[in-house]
Amino acid sequence: MKFNRIVLIMAMEDEARPIIKELNLTPRGKLLSPLPMEFYEGKYKSLNLDLVTSGKCDKHNVDHIGPQAAILNTASAISQLQPDLIINPGTAGGFVSAGGNIGDVYLSYPMVCYHDRRIPLPGFDAYGIGSYYCFDTREIANSLGLKMGIVSTGSSLDYTPKDLDLIKSYGGVVKEMEAASIAWVADLYKIPFFAIKSITDLVDNSTPTEEEFLKNLESASIALSREVFRVIDFIAK
Ligand code: SAH
Repeated sequence: MKFNRIVLIMAMEDEARPIIKELNLTPRGKLLSPLPMEFYEGKYKSLNLDLVTSGKCDKHNVDHIGPQAAILNTASAISQLQPDLIINPGTAGGFVSAGGNIGDVYLSYPMVCYHDRRIPLPGFDAYGIGSYYCFDTREIANSLGLKMGIVSTGSSLDYTPKDLDLIKSYGGVVKEMEAASIAWVADLYKIPFFAIKSITDLVDNSTPTEEEFLKNLESASIALSREVFRVIDFIAK
């Protein structure tokens, strides 16, 4: 595949750490002061590889997760680094009803949508859902034995019955908090984009999401780093 500069956009430091180690990336500090985004860079074969996390919230002392920080991160990364491919690795919730298991790794295909922007006005309803088409990941997923599916983004770790109805309506199989926002900015610049999501928790089982998420974050992040490496290696060929 003909890419020169890939930027990985990520939310949480805990998710990024194994990837930074696996890809041997060097910390370069803040991407664009005074914004909180943290920049790492490296090379793999002939590819320039950059990774930008959304950094920490000084006020609440946690990672900047969710759609707002993801937009700021992506817009800053594009203007500073001019990537020709954007990838969003991260953790996510899966669905038992869609055959999902903890530890599965999905590539987004064919699109990413929003499940909590409900605007019942003509035209704005579809605008709210977004439906951003992704880079065609079928060749990568089939070659590497990864799952594929529609990734659904919202501002919350938990969900309301309306969120679930909307996810079901467009066949979402992965639930998280950043992909559609990153896809929107990438689409404005016409830069190809896809997400790689490792399942930490199952949305439609009886265990509370936060309990499962914290229990599986480390193992899912390690699975994620392994698959991100395989995907980068495939692209570098
Ligand atoms: N309490 C956690 C916060 C994690 S929030 C902490 O240790 O800081 C969840 C993050 O993981 C988001 O970046 C989101 O993209 C992803 N995520 C994992 N499972 C999710 C789910 N079921 N629903 C929404 N986001 C999920």
